[in-house]
Amino acid sequence: MQLSDKASYYLEQEEKHGAHNYHPLPVVLEKGNGVYVWDVEGKRYFDFLSGYSALNQGHRHPRIMQALTDQAQKLTLTSRAFYNNKLGEFEEFITRFFGYDKVLPMNTGAEAVETALKLARKWAYKVKGIAENEAKIITVSENFHGRTITVISFSTEVDSQKDFGPFTPGFVTIDYDNIEALEKALQDKNVAAFLVEPIQGEAGVVVPREGYLFKAKALCKKNNVLFIADEIQTGLARTGKMLACDHENVKPDVLILGKALSGGTLPVSAVLASDEIMLTILPGEHGSTYGGNPLACAVAIESLKVLEEENLSENAEKMGNIFRAELRKLNSPLIKEIRGKGLLNAIVINHADENAAWDICLKLRDNGLLAKPTHGDKIRFAPPLIINEVQIKESVAIIAKALSSLH
Ligand code: PLP
Repeated sequence: MQLSDKASYYLEQEEKHGAHNYHPLPVVLEKGNGVYVWDVEGKRYFDFLSGYSALNQGHRHPRIMQALTDQAQKLTLTSRAFYNNKLGEFEEFITRFFGYDKVLPMNTGAEAVETALKLARKWAYKVKGIAENEAKIITVSENFHGRTITVISFSTEVDSQKDFGPFTPGFVTIDYDNIEALEKALQDKNVAAFLVEPIQGEAGVVVPREGYLFKAKALCKKNNVLFIADEIQTGLARTGKMLACDHENVKPDVLILGKALSGGTLPVSAVLASDEIMLTILPGEHGSTYGGNPLACAVAIESLKVLEEENLSENAEKMGNIFRAELRKLNSPLIKEIRGKGLLNAIVINHADENAAWDICLKLRDNGLLAKPTHGDKIRFAPPLIINEVQIKESVAIIAKALSSLH
């Protein structure tokens, strides 16, 4: 597909005036609705990225739009210098929804991860009794938790770290999906917490073996170590349960949420924990100007209600099963592996050319479906959770066409 002059104009504008910290697929979007987006020429596409799972409820969900615009007419920001009449309502709603004592609202995912790490350290010193500055947090290989200096300090991705040092100390990295490695690392009495994604999204949708989360949580409990789940991408119905940890009936000590908490409208993230953990942080010790703003609160409540009332976990589970089964039926020699849970899926490409995944994504675009390669040879497929069976089958037909045109 040749880019139009209009599309090229927007591409060049970004290229010229914006930092080059992303490598977007060449398509310029101007409208979204439900599972679809439209480019500046009016061509329609299935959105199979969903803003990295921020759009679980679909583009511009009418109920979320209503909550957003209603609240925008009244009050958008107070800062936490004053009370507002929405924050408490959100706090009560979300803590009941997930069964925690307290919530700490932030904005981006990375900020929520930072908050969880700070909470773990405070708890280590105030409750567990680790000596000052000695607390360690266990993280895993191939993790992705965001882009701040502390968060990239325990990244195992070269591009994430290169030339950004020096890094924050206090992190120990072990292999993902390796219970023995965790058991060994937990022998260190200075360990405060274990931070993990229940399924690794950015790594290419890496699903751990069944029982991993359950055993990891039990080991943490035994060793008085906090189990912190980063459900920013896996949470909020994406994998066929409200939380990916629910698949193994695991309740994290600290739960990190983001992305779909606002249905793709504005940055809203949150950390949930018990009183014992949350009340270790006192006034003046942590916060954010926009964290817990009334606009975010109104939107987050409605976003959660939509997930529950529209049974989006169940739909994700059902559509995910159909999607993977239909993909398997293609029997494409270009697909080395199909993996995922619910509607968080990926294929691993079997091709000598290292650009094959990118080329397939260009073909998908030409045929009306948007997806993005992750880690070179993998393509993630994560449509909004409101997708139906007809649309899934239409999407798989597009994938089949794209694969065969490359083959
Ligand atoms: N944690 C996980 C598991 C993520 O997938 C992401 C983003 O993709 C983040 C954290 C960072 O979120 P944000 O980009 O909002 O900072």
